[in-house]
Amino acid sequence: MVEPEGETRYANQTTVKIAPQRPAMSAQTAAKKHTALRILVTGGAGFVGSHLCDRLIARGDRVVCLDNLFTGSKDNIAHLLDHPNFEFVNHDVNHPIFIPVDQIYNLACPASPIHYQYDPVMTVRTNVMGAINMLDLAKRTGARVMQASTSEVYGDPEIHPQVESYWGRVNPIGPRACYDEGKRCAETLFFDSFRQDSVDIKVVRIFNTYGPRMAINDGRVVSNFVVQALTNQPITIYGEGQQTRSFCYVDDLVEGFIRMMATPTGFTGPVNIGNPNEFTILELAQQTIAQIGSTSVIERRPLPQDDPRQRQPDITLAKSALDWEPRTQLKEGLAKTIAHFKAVLGKGLVEDESRA
Ligand code: NAD
Ligand code: UDP
Repeated sequence: MVEPEGETRYANQTTVKIAPQRPAMSAQTAAKKHTALRILVTGGAGFVGSHLCDRLIARGDRVVCLDNLFTGSKDNIAHLLDHPNFEFVNHDVNHPIFIPVDQIYNLACPASPIHYQYDPVMTVRTNVMGAINMLDLAKRTGARVMQASTSEVYGDPEIHPQVESYWGRVNPIGPRACYDEGKRCAETLFFDSFRQDSVDIKVVRIFNTYGPRMAINDGRVVSNFVVQALTNQPITIYGEGQQTRSFCYVDDLVEGFIRMMATPTGFTGPVNIGNPNEFTILELAQQTIAQIGSTSVIERRPLPQDDPRQRQPDITLAKSALDWEPRTQLKEGLAKTIAHFKAVLGKGLVEDESRA
């Protein structure tokens, strides 16, 4: 294991020195039995990453949150910035970095179709180079490294629900390919590093996740529908709304991450993490309107190319290997998400033009 306060320099590479451990905080006393770790979270200022940082800090770990703020925001981690065990590093995972850590969660990548299609070449690069750089860091430090992969590796699936053994059906030249194939290649890099260099890898395949701190303008379906319903604007349904998704609340996802990271060396996954309760997009729209009591009407828009028709995780492996299953169902999770966006809208932070 690398010395906590060690500092090593490599050519053309950023090196981050972690400050010495500061006195324990009262919040950490809650995490009595957990041995504090030094943990790197790439994409830590994003929606999922910021919740993961919260969870790790609450457990007593020392967290380095690395993000280039492409789709993330310092607002998501503002409450952590002064915490003695939290450090923010503005860095692009496309460039190598050396940070002595015990664990790495690799989440850095734009996740919504609008954002990942904005600069598709950069999306591929971030997935591939980000994976290479994080695997390289894991190899040098002996850190365990977890890749935030995606249900998009299954593409528009012929197998339903999707099991981990299914190889997927991805259009390699379509507009979603930069993300889907980028994530598939990242998985390849992880498994080759495991076989070739014995890197201690973990891979989770995340199904549609929602909750507070989703970017209000990132175009994903839950944030779009909630904001549209709260502002009594038309709810934009792409296609007939008969395509399905299975929505996982963010706290459940983070619990799955933590459990996966705690599995023995050699248990690599991939493991599906998601909520198997499946809804049509029309049902989601109706539920959102009903929960908010909105006067929004439904407005049809063209279905984007290669939009998967159905998606539902088979979580048999997560149940048996991680003793994990989601606890928050859509109604409850949606209520928390609605409360979040109500507060954000109350501050006047809406960017209407980018949501449709
Ligand atoms: P997000 O866009 O909120 O977070 C991604 C974070 O990565 C942002 O903070 C962004 O600024 C950062 N980032 C992007 N490119 C970077 C780069 N080159 N260097 C450093 N940081 C960079 O999205 P999210 O929903 O929080 O997704 C987090 C991870 O989980 C992503 O890898 C995504 O592919 C994966 N995932 C999410 C979902 C979901 O439904 N939320 C589903 C499947 C997979
Ligand atoms: N969608 C929709 N209206 C919106 C945003 C999305 O009907 O305003 C649909 C989209 O076509 C897809 C589903 O909702 O079928 C989920 O979209 P999202 O972008 O959230 O995630 P992904 O397609 O990556 O699963």
